[in-house]
Amino acid sequence: MSRTTKIIISVVLVILFMSLGTMAVYNLSQSDDRMSQNDGSSDHSQNGDKDEAGNGDDKGKEDNKKQEEKAESEALEEANLLKAHYDYDGALAAISEEDSEAAKNLKAEIEKEKESLVEWNDPGKFSHLFFHSLIVDPKLAFESSQAQGYKNYMVTISEFNKIIEQLHKNNYVLVNFDDFVTVNDDQFVTFKGLKLPPNKKPLILSQDDVSYYEYMEGEGFASKLVLTKDNEIKNTYEDGGKKEVGDYDMVPLLDSFVKAHPDFSYHGAKGTLALTGYNGVLGYRTSISEYGDNDKTKKEIEEAKKVAKRLVETGWQMASHSWGHLNMTQASLDHIKRDNELWQQEVAPVIGKTSILIYPFGADIADWQDYTASNEKYEYLKSQGFAIYCNVDASTPSWGQLTDAYYRNARINIDGIRFNSVLSGETDILKNFFDTQSVYDANARNQN
Ligand SMILES: [Zn+2]
Repeated sequence: MSRTTKIIISVVLVILFMSLGTMAVYNLSQSDDRMSQNDGSSDHSQNGDKDEAGNGDDKGKEDNKKQEEKAESEALEEANLLKAHYDYDGALAAISEEDSEAAKNLKAEIEKEKESLVEWNDPGKFSHLFFHSLIVDPKLAFESSQAQGYKNYMVTISEFNKIIEQLHKNNYVLVNFDDFVTVNDDQFVTFKGLKLPPNKKPLILSQDDVSYYEYMEGEGFASKLVLTKDNEIKNTYEDGGKKEVGDYDMVPLLDSFVKAHPDFSYHGAKGTLALTGYNGVLGYRTSISEYGDNDKTKKEIEEAKKVAKRLVETGWQMASHSWGHLNMTQASLDHIKRDNELWQQEVAPVIGKTSILIYPFGADIADWQDYTASNEKYEYLKSQGFAIYCNVDASTPSWGQLTDAYYRNARINIDGIRFNSVLSGETDILKNFFDTQSVYDANARNQN
């Protein structure tokens, strides 16, 4: 059930309870009247009852009509939202029972749009950009002892917001792997592709190391992802000892942006979160091997599970980023095994099993040619359920490789290093995505 539907249902329930309440009060006052009139004037009382019963009937009809109209407008609203998310079949299903003029027009509009869709069935054409944690307070981050690292690998919230706005304006649409690739129970991979209107282009987004690592504490980043009372995912951010809850990193920022611009998301897709394990996940210190098998860790695990579940419900996919941020090009098979065992033990139970592996450092286990059975690292990772592999390659706007056993997809890093390479004229790889010059926060970056 979508959030909109939930809101609509709660509103209807509230109205229903309110009218029930009014009716109860009405009946009570009626019986009071009757009692007081019982001595002597029973005729008048009967007439009164009749009149009021008649009014009640009219009111009932009116209520019914109002409710029907309300249900219809809700169905139309739901259909319009699904249509904006390019979920045309879902939109048609939402108004299948409606036969008003407005519903008929909308159905015709959806059918027409469906006919014009263009198929994206080339595995090599799915661009993929990725980010790290966003900098909330550039002053803090860029004056810290790790300033250079942050400048190189991170972008600020203001830069991120501009990028998202431009990606949207440039007709990119967020898609998730499960929108166009299917991995079945036998680890067999099929490429479904997907359809978009003629001017739109699919785009995968991911964020690495969504751990809110210990080393980042107090340096101008959010501290964790939290589930609010309204069932939304937000960040906590400590601002000079004051704890704020809001949009302080990619997840809630994108959630809010997609809510305001549903046409930026295919079927509600947002992106993929790549998670290590050594500092826990999503800002929760869930690692038993690091933090001990105690009540505190257990509580962190329970909290993180709730957040992860809600993330998946709201368009986010999860990926392994290894437990210890392992360079898999350099690491031995044995090391990869030990690391992955820990990941499966400590991270998978919290965020759910995943078939996506996002290589730390972008360090792939082979060159660009197909993985083969003689690659023992690949054979092992495949046996562990991984079927979608992501490396880093900023030499081409999109790159993908498909066999019936895996889909490999290249990502472009969006960070200070990439900005500099574009601004120095070294590459124009980002030109179709956004204008780096207008995004780059020179003020914050060049102060120190
Ligand atoms: Zn990483």
